[in-house]
Amino acid sequence: MRTILAIDDKENNLITITGLIDCYMPDCKVLTATSAEEGISIAQIEQPDTILLDVIMPEMDGFEACKRLKKDDLTKHIPIVLITAVKIDVESRTKGLNIGADAFLSKPIDTSEFVAQVNVMLRIKEAEDKLRAENIVLEELIEKRTAEISKKNLKLQIEITERKIAKQKRAKAERALNESEKNLRTLFNSMTDIVFEVNYDGRLVNIAPTSTKLLFKEPEKLIGNKLHDIFPKAEADKFLKFCRKCLDKNKAYNLDYSLLINNQKTWFEGRGIPKTQNTILFIARDISERKKAEQIQKILHNISNAVISSINIEKLIYIIKEELGTIIDTQNYYITLYDDETNSFALPFLADEKDRSQSYSATNTMAGYVVNSRKTLFATENQQKKLVEQGKFKFIGSRSKVWLGIPLFMNDKVIGVVVVQSYTSEKAYTKSDVEILEFISGQISISIDRKQREQDLIFALKKATESDRLKSSFLSTMSHELRTPLNSIIGFSEFITEELTVAEIIEFVKTINDSGRHLLSIVEDIFDITIIETGEVKILKQDVQLQSVLNDILQIMKIEQQKMKKSNLDLELLISPNEKNLLVKIDSSKLKQIIINILKNALKFTSEGHIQFGFSLMPDVNKPMLKFYIKDTGIGIPLEKHDFIFNVFRQVDDSDTRAFGGAGLGLSIAKKLIELLGGEIWLESDVGIGSVFYFTVPYEVAEFVKHTEKSEINYPPINKTNKIAEKNILIVEDDTSSYKFLKLLMEKFGYKTLWAENGKLAVEICKKNQDIDLVLMDINMPIMDGFEATKEIKKLNPNLPIIAQTAYAMDGDKDKILKAGCDEYISKPIRRELLFEKIEKLLKLNEVAVL
Ligand code: ADP
Repeated sequence: MRTILAIDDKENNLITITGLIDCYMPDCKVLTATSAEEGISIAQIEQPDTILLDVIMPEMDGFEACKRLKKDDLTKHIPIVLITAVKIDVESRTKGLNIGADAFLSKPIDTSEFVAQVNVMLRIKEAEDKLRAENIVLEELIEKRTAEISKKNLKLQIEITERKIAKQKRAKAERALNESEKNLRTLFNSMTDIVFEVNYDGRLVNIAPTSTKLLFKEPEKLIGNKLHDIFPKAEADKFLKFCRKCLDKNKAYNLDYSLLINNQKTWFEGRGIPKTQNTILFIARDISERKKAEQIQKILHNISNAVISSINIEKLIYIIKEELGTIIDTQNYYITLYDDETNSFALPFLADEKDRSQSYSATNTMAGYVVNSRKTLFATENQQKKLVEQGKFKFIGSRSKVWLGIPLFMNDKVIGVVVVQSYTSEKAYTKSDVEILEFISGQISISIDRKQREQDLIFALKKATESDRLKSSFLSTMSHELRTPLNSIIGFSEFITEELTVAEIIEFVKTINDSGRHLLSIVEDIFDITIIETGEVKILKQDVQLQSVLNDILQIMKIEQQKMKKSNLDLELLISPNEKNLLVKIDSSKLKQIIINILKNALKFTSEGHIQFGFSLMPDVNKPMLKFYIKDTGIGIPLEKHDFIFNVFRQVDDSDTRAFGGAGLGLSIAKKLIELLGGEIWLESDVGIGSVFYFTVPYEVAEFVKHTEKSEINYPPINKTNKIAEKNILIVEDDTSSYKFLKLLMEKFGYKTLWAENGKLAVEICKKNQDIDLVLMDINMPIMDGFEATKEIKKLNPNLPIIAQTAYAMDGDKDKILKAGCDEYISKPIRRELLFEKIEKLLKLNEVAVL
């Protein structure tokens, strides 16, 4: 049943409407409301199919109610028929249509119009309800479909989003990958490190372009090469072993190694990282600078320590070479020590392929140039040539491709130069090598200076010890050697006071004389060695005929041979006919002393057989040398004593029971004199067979011979009576016994004598006595010494010959005596033969001068 809601404030109208509907529309139910408000509520609740709404109502009119009903979702679909009072009320109808009214009826209500109108409304409502119902179904369907679609959409969207995200992720990952690959590539290409990959066979599979330092060639050209094609074998072996270790153990390891690159030792610190099963990535870094710094520290430390560990300066310089050799090429190295006093260099240690000289003058040398300029010289061959052209130095020794000399300073003084050079490569040294050497040179200077001081101390200590040893040795030897002859002298002279036959006295005096001479020879030897050792001996070269000098020696030795009762020995001087007239400039007196010393030994230690001596020329050496030999068939000398016997006070047999006398000085004097002359001595000897002593002496060929030495010495016979009895000799001597001896000697010869006890008296006597023919002047005297007295006497009478007699033995004293005006010189103890020879010579000279 359909429902119609009638809203009118007038009950009558409502009754009318209800009656009409009941009558004409029996299947419709009527609901009524007397106010708009009530009507709206009923409409909302009951949902009528049509609403009949009176326009004119109190409180809320029909327009307002229609408006509200049409606005309300619950009621807007219900058709509304507005019932107006006036039939053709256009205004009301327009207004009603505007606010949503569906139809109009006017009062009084026309029944047929009313029924027709309400039916239309009902049909509309029905159609609308149907529509609405369909709509709802449709909407529900749409909603359902929409929901389904939305669901699907959502799923799709999720899928799309997921895909998008995945895609984005992929893109991001790709970008990241690209980025990181790019980064890696940039890193690989721009790394300063050496980076390459090697496989198990040692083949290079990848190389960073910056790895040229290690590989010397363009890296890309090396891909595919084997380690052994690139590195020296030892290094390649080491590398391959290392790569395989990394791969076998699948572990990263470190490897430090060094290579010689462009002649420069280069250190690397590397790490091998297994990349695949078959390749390792090797990253290395040049750590030469760090290594060098470390090495320099080590070298400085070692050089400083070497002062203690090295035994001498040669060894120290050798250690320095070894140390420097760890960073630079020291194949040709030396340290030359400079002596500013002599402007010369000494080479305690030289390691050079070509040059072997040991000491040389600094003038015109490269090292000398370094000393003078006080600066490092680093010069290639061409630069050296230019400096030579500029006159800075000359080429001495072998030329090098590059020469590096660094001055060694000590207290601002150049004490030497450290030199390294290369004969093969101009590029053997770099500027950095120069810097390093300059840096280390300070420590080298300190070490050398310390070692030199230490050596000086050791030398001084040695000298002190040696002189101490010599003192003991001297005392023990002298005790024996001096006491023995003194024993005879004192013993026999005591005997002479007793009653003896003339023959016995002569015998005893002879023994006393022999012992005295022996004593004198020892004293002379001691003087000689002392004078040589103090460096007082001077070389005096003269032009001589060598054969004549050797003949003199032969004569002296023959006398000696007789004295020693060894006439059975053949004593020979052997000179080849070619050399018989050889004229040389030589210090003949030292040569005589040397040969006599050696010959005396030969005589002493030979009892049978022969003794020969002679010489030969050695023209093959730079300096012309004379080589002398003295050969005997004596007892010989064991090999282990060959050096030893040249030391002072040293003898083969130094026991208390030794069979031969001697102070152990002869050979040391000979050796020292030979060395002084610039030669050397050595020997060959077999025990029981004999000895040959050799020695060399440099000589110069004489231009002419001023005076040929006498080949034979003819001493005047002692008892010769000359026409000299009238000659007056003044003996100036403070020592009474010496005076007595001289007086006796002179008078025995027939001279008349006068005595002055000191120089002053001698001058006075000379003033008073014009007939004095010769003065024998002692030097060391009280009041006025011999020098002074000689000068005074020579002033009075320049032609009066004066012979000085002195106990002084130094070379310099002779000069002093001759300078004072003495004509001759004779040393005490006086050898009478010699004295008479000199007196005779002077008196004759004097006669000629007077004439
Ligand atoms: P000495 O005064 O003892 O002879 P030297 O210095 O002359 O001193 O000689 C040293 C030592 O050398 C001698 O004591 C002797 O042992 C040995 N000697 C020297 N010359 C010879 C020689 N011709 N034959 C054997 N031994 C010799």
